[in-house]
Amino acid sequence: MTIRTAAGERFPELIIDLAKLKDNMSRLTSECRRYGISVAGVIKGASGHPGVARSFQQGGCAEIASSRLEQLAPLRGEGITLPLMLVRIPMLSEAEDTVRIADISLNSELATLRALDSAAARLGRKHGVILMADLGDLREGWWDGDELTAAAGTVEEELVHLSLEGIGTNLGCYGSILPTREKLEELLALAGKVEERIGRRLRIVSGGATSSFMRVMDGDMPPGINHLRMGEGPLLARDWEIYYGYPMAGMHKDCFTLRAQVIEVKDKPSYPQGETGVDAFGHKPVYMDRGVRRRALLAFGKADCGSFDDVFPREPGTEILGGSSDHCILDVQEAGGEIRTGDVLEFDVDYGSLIYLTASANVRKRCID
Ligand SMILES: *Cc1c(COP(=O)(O)O)cnc(C)c1O
Repeated sequence: MTIRTAAGERFPELIIDLAKLKDNMSRLTSECRRYGISVAGVIKGASGHPGVARSFQQGGCAEIASSRLEQLAPLRGEGITLPLMLVRIPMLSEAEDTVRIADISLNSELATLRALDSAAARLGRKHGVILMADLGDLREGWWDGDELTAAAGTVEEELVHLSLEGIGTNLGCYGSILPTREKLEELLALAGKVEERIGRRLRIVSGGATSSFMRVMDGDMPPGINHLRMGEGPLLARDWEIYYGYPMAGMHKDCFTLRAQVIEVKDKPSYPQGETGVDAFGHKPVYMDRGVRRRALLAFGKADCGSFDDVFPREPGTEILGGSSDHCILDVQEAGGEIRTGDVLEFDVDYGSLIYLTASANVRKRCID
């Protein structure tokens, strides 16, 4: 919808609907609860926005999680009381900060676990750890289950400032591997071996990210998987539907809205005129000659959203042609109403653009409830 604006607004802006985010998280947590599964709310897709973290907390997740300590560090001052979870394997250089800031971290190296243990000893704290198993996606985690089991024994018996909370896996990130029932049963078998080795039950068996929620929807999550770490699902709820055909009725897919202002509207040829070289980024795009068309120039660009493939105009009959760092060009020939300079157009976002938009100092964030 085209919106004519009052003075005093600033663009581009990203509207964050906190009530919808809370709603999304509470739908996911209540569905998961029926299967004995708790959820970590992962905020890295929104660059750790504290309002998003509060919505997730209100929605009933068990931990607030991020890949970056910088995003977790301010949360105690922002009303977050839940345990904080670091989901990227800690750097050795951040071992002490990990213990100081996060209550629990995912791990895959004994050297790092030892560094966390020493840091915890120095700080007089206990730090929770989850050991990651690589089941084929080939990003983080032990490849050899026996090595993971041995590391679990070391943590349990020697690294007394750590508490071994459980094991976990990550799928569908690098290797595009699906969280099938078989993969999650592999994780459970490994949990069994670790439990045998340490002589007690593990508190957490963390079966993956948003994509693993498909097992909950299909009702075939192997019993024993009791934890998921979800970001994309509660933030955007797009991937299940777009890539796997789950309709996801009842999830809000418009928690985030990019709003940008039109700075020029003119009829121009659609094919560049003159000798062609390269564009602003040194690429040679293909241009289609569709004759003279009405186009609108908007005051935002790749510097704000990362890529024009990751933002989607809501105004019917409009289409992104391209742009540069600070400009976006829209074909508005088929748009219903007349689009004028000064109008504000709205865009849906996906995970790729959300990361950039939330991180950008040039984009104003405005929370609504
Ligand atoms: C980012 C991340 C998640 C969350 O992934 P989504 O697909 O956004 O749900 C979970 N676990 C780990 C280890 C991650 O890095």
